[in-house]
Amino acid sequence: MKNIIVTGATGRMGSRIISVSEEYTDIMLCGALEKKGHKDLGKDIGLLLGLGEKKVQLNDDLENIIGGADVVIDFTAPAAAIQNIEVAAKKGKAMVIGTTGLSKEEIDTIRGLSGNIPVVLAPNMSVGVNLLLKVLGDVARVLGDDYDIEIIEAHHRLKKDAPSGTALKMAQVIAGAVQRDLDEVGVYARKGIIGERSKKEIGIQTVRAGDIVGEHTVLFGGLGERIEITHKASSRDTFARGALKAALWVGGQKPGLYDMQDVLGLK
Ligand code: NAP
Repeated sequence: MKNIIVTGATGRMGSRIISVSEEYTDIMLCGALEKKGHKDLGKDIGLLLGLGEKKVQLNDDLENIIGGADVVIDFTAPAAAIQNIEVAAKKGKAMVIGTTGLSKEEIDTIRGLSGNIPVVLAPNMSVGVNLLLKVLGDVARVLGDDYDIEIIEAHHRLKKDAPSGTALKMAQVIAGAVQRDLDEVGVYARKGIIGERSKKEIGIQTVRAGDIVGEHTVLFGGLGERIEITHKASSRDTFARGALKAALWVGGQKPGLYDMQDVLGLK
């Protein structure tokens, strides 16, 4: 049995993780966190989410409630994720972080703290996307420099960071496979008289509209043909199930920084 705390518990992802966790007999919710000043602090999270009473009250102080937990699952915002991992590392508790939009410095902080606790950090917890991450590098390597690489991602209008963490991860995997430095070849916007496309650039384009859960297409454009590899998430539950799978897995690991490829045995 793994006892979990979900931070951002009333958010789009936090609420789905708590709801989906009801299906797991080996996972028990022992804490639900929101930030200070949240209007529902002190209320039962089960009643708030329409799940029936769970006897877990919405709290704003991770340090106070972390004692009984095995794993903290964080889908919040970068600054909150850092605050939360600092507490988890101090208390020796494992973490699953799905929060995206982390800066390089914030990722370095997480890497440093993962010296004390096991951490799964992944911008996308779906099985399908992680399988794609495994094969995209091979596809890019085989196609080589004759195929232009463009990544197009689409998400709902409320998403705060761009491009998506998944699009960035795809770009990093592909850039690594074709031995390019993403900082040099990533192109995130085009407008005006931009001239011909350079062979090495990797385009990463963002669409924001309505309630799109998450869509990613990697396009390899050659002369006379193009290959498009697309993943479409139709429900957040795919990410929630991935996060719970990661929580079950990370509890038994040594300190270190892991990703979903580790969790799914894709390495
Ligand atoms: P959301 O609906 O805005 O939920 C975030 C929740 O975290 C909100 O309830 C927010 O409260 C809360 N929060 C903010 N600061 C907090 C703090 N200091 N302590 C506790 N709670 C805090 O966003 P979402 O769509 O669930 O996405 C959350 C994150 O997960 C984003 O970075 C998103 O890109 C990422 N994500 C990752 C995956 C994946 O598979 N890895 C999948 C989907 C989304 P307020 O509303 O009051 O600010």
